[in-house]
Amino acid sequence: MNYQPTIGLEVHAQLLSQSKLFCGASTRFGQEPNANVHPLCMAIPGTLPKLNAAVVDMAIRTGLALNCTINLESHWDRKHYFYPDLPSGFQVTQSELPICEYGKLDIPTSAGERSIRIRRIHMEEDAGKLMHDAQSGESLVDLNRAGIPLLEIVSYPDLKTAEEATTYLRTLRDILVYIGVNDGNLEEGSFRCDANVSIAPKDATTLGTRVEIKNINSFRYVQKAIEYEIARQVSVLENGGKLVQETRLWDAEKNETRSMRSKENAQDYRYFPEPNLPPLFVSESQVEAVRKTLPELPKAKCRRYVESLGLPEYDASVLTAERELAEYFETCLTHYADAKKLSNWVMGELLRMMKEEVLGFSALRFSPEQFARLLKAVDAGKISLNAAKEVFAEMFRTGDEPERIVEAKGLAQVSDTGAIETAIAAVLVAHTGEVEKYRAGKKQVFGFLVGQVMKTMQGKANPAVVNNLLRKVLDS
Ligand code: ADP
Ligand code: MG
Repeated sequence: MNYQPTIGLEVHAQLLSQSKLFCGASTRFGQEPNANVHPLCMAIPGTLPKLNAAVVDMAIRTGLALNCTINLESHWDRKHYFYPDLPSGFQVTQSELPICEYGKLDIPTSAGERSIRIRRIHMEEDAGKLMHDAQSGESLVDLNRAGIPLLEIVSYPDLKTAEEATTYLRTLRDILVYIGVNDGNLEEGSFRCDANVSIAPKDATTLGTRVEIKNINSFRYVQKAIEYEIARQVSVLENGGKLVQETRLWDAEKNETRSMRSKENAQDYRYFPEPNLPPLFVSESQVEAVRKTLPELPKAKCRRYVESLGLPEYDASVLTAERELAEYFETCLTHYADAKKLSNWVMGELLRMMKEEVLGFSALRFSPEQFARLLKAVDAGKISLNAAKEVFAEMFRTGDEPERIVEAKGLAQVSDTGAIETAIAAVLVAHTGEVEKYRAGKKQVFGFLVGQVMKTMQGKANPAVVNNLLRKVLDS
């Protein structure tokens, strides 16, 4: 391909506050239409906005997690457009002077880590929702979402492929969920993304005309929509056409983007300062107070797992991708010190069964301490690895104590040398032919003899102990 694609992403993330940005109405999801409304978010004349302080803290928190400068003074503006989901006729947003600017997000790519610059993060209010009734032909308005606080996170046009854009989004989503400001749900629309895409000849020094794509509500579609759009733009240029700046809609059924409207200019929105809100001032000490509450972020956590726990890169990245998983792992680690063995169990048995049962960490029926006791029983040779998996499955189902399950299922492993020696003696007497062959140099029969001892002991002997003792007897 002779063209270089360029992608910039605009993400709208609903903040996990209890009440709306400028009034006390609830933000609870799944309520009856228009249950979560106050006069202000219905735009009743005479109502005045009152800023929700919790939202400002979440914006600062996000800015710090994304390495932004926090502006100690920022401004509110009105952005006007006419649509029934917006009863006041304007959206209160931060246009000229946003609360956070100039950050970055490092993402892993096939060619190593890349730093994607973040242009700005600002707070704004969400609009309501229209519901079109096909039968009556009427459109109904639900204002539950109107006034819910959003963060808009705008990247520089630093992304070069659809894959990088998807990785950026996933990484960003994981961080927002980690720091507790967003639930990360693309399908329900609490994490939304518009993708700006352009192409330019490989040797060009300026970027091409950009197209904005809306309505992308899954990671898979982000990738597909951008790939489709790049291919479409290439074919327009190759056929001697010209690209126009426009907004296009992703159609997931037809797998294509189609034109929605030509891109509006800033003038169309008639931005002006919101007269009912003073400039927003935050203090250094407020920023520092928020900084102190930030959890360790996935990347730092991942590095620590590799460097101080000695875990492989892969294990570390899986275990730190979600905060709950990492926290669970770390709690288990306080009861059981072998990080790699623990990681094998968590990434293997535990995650597999949780996925099968669609179970979250809070619903687990056994404690990290019980889990640790099971692993210690394996280390001590009290049960075999296979038996431990059986015990684990039962613990997972019932939450019962591992020792009780071992007992009830008769899974205890015999390490008692006396019992094993008796079994070995019996096997050697019964298989004198094999013993002779072994002593004559045919070492392969060793495995057969081990098998016979295990069989005599109904599979409950500790294989390591059997191996040791049998070799001693044979080689003496
Ligand atoms: P607007 O205010 O009109 O939305 P911005 O300058 O804020 O425009 O840019 C919006 C998004 O578009 C940003 O994420 C930016 O990185 C991206 N963008 C800007 N120019 C291009 C381009 N030529 N190609 C791809 N993305 C672009
Ligand atoms: Mg924009």
